[in-house]
Amino acid sequence: MANTVDIENRYASGAYTKRPLTIVRGAGAHLWDDTGREYIDCVGGHGSANVGHANPEVARAIAEQAARLTSCTEIFYNDQRAALLCNSGAEAIEGAIKFARYTTGRSEIVAMMRGFHGRTLGALSATWEPKYRAGFEPLLPGFTHIPFDNLERADAAISDKTAGVLVELVQGEGGVRPASREFVAGLERLCHERGALLIVDEVQTGFGRVGQMFASRVYDVEPDLVAVAKSIAGGLPMGATLMGPRVKELEALAHGSTFGGNPLVCAASVAAIDFIVRENLPARAAELGEYTLDRLRRLQLPAIREVRGMGLLIGIELKHKVTPILQALMARGVLALPAGLNVLRLLPPLVIEKSDLDTVVDQIEAVLRIAD
Ligand code: PLP
Repeated sequence: MANTVDIENRYASGAYTKRPLTIVRGAGAHLWDDTGREYIDCVGGHGSANVGHANPEVARAIAEQAARLTSCTEIFYNDQRAALLCNSGAEAIEGAIKFARYTTGRSEIVAMMRGFHGRTLGALSATWEPKYRAGFEPLLPGFTHIPFDNLERADAAISDKTAGVLVELVQGEGGVRPASREFVAGLERLCHERGALLIVDEVQTGFGRVGQMFASRVYDVEPDLVAVAKSIAGGLPMGATLMGPRVKELEALAHGSTFGGNPLVCAASVAAIDFIVRENLPARAAELGEYTLDRLRRLQLPAIREVRGMGLLIGIELKHKVTPILQALMARGVLALPAGLNVLRLLPPLVIEKSDLDTVVDQIEAVLRIAD
């Protein structure tokens, strides 16, 4: 039989640049490849593994629900389902765009430069980076992109035609950039003044990642629509569009999805959220994040331009390209992510041990010293 790498290389779409590693097992913040080699994981399933890999409580909930009921569409009620509508971050954004238009009767969306919201056509229209958009244009009309963290430009762009203003409070893929408090407060005020809805993308920042359950709490802002996904269901595919009181209640047929509110993922989600709350993972992310950011900032290496982050969403902007650094870290047993061409991103499961984070910082230091 052909091996995993050959099969994936031959039949997968080619949309992903692969790393030469076949991951077969995980536990907490550790992963193992098919040769039995162990890695500290700072990829964290791109943010979907906040409760750790193979979390025993999530695994138990999935097994129990799998033996009871896995399919039940939303024409029936189901004990595991809250108001949970979709299967991914991009779909949660699609829902938010639709509901903003539906509520306001307006069509325009103001989004941010360097913002990332997913690959479906609506979410892609809100995504700024040209390399994601190229080849798929024309995208949806009515989307404009303003510089992130620039209130003057927001003031000029938000008008009585604006249905929603879409923002990540800490831009993830765009380089790990936390917004200023003034910008976020200003966006909320402008939306209220001009009848637009504030849409916050918490797909990457949600469920404890930035040191509170949601980044909106860190900024003390009350969005009208919040898109969540990734870690909502302990690594299973699920997303949700949360609606505040200014959003118009949906009439029949306004939205829907065959797998929306699926009992299996809802059971996993209930177990994952219980775990996050009971283990107080947001506080753990805040403490470990501060510790790691502090250690990284004290490295003072010539290769580092800036260290940014919030909680355990950490970015190290380098003076050179990040790909060789990621490869060197992998050879030393640390898996991490890029955020653009020259930002090294750490997105570990929130259950990671402090000693593992020490190893990660030590290895980053060693690799960057060689690179200098
Ligand atoms: N929004 C943000 C902030 C993201 O980081 C991502 C994915 O990385 C998405 C939306 C899209 O989520 P998904 O890949 O589940 O469609």
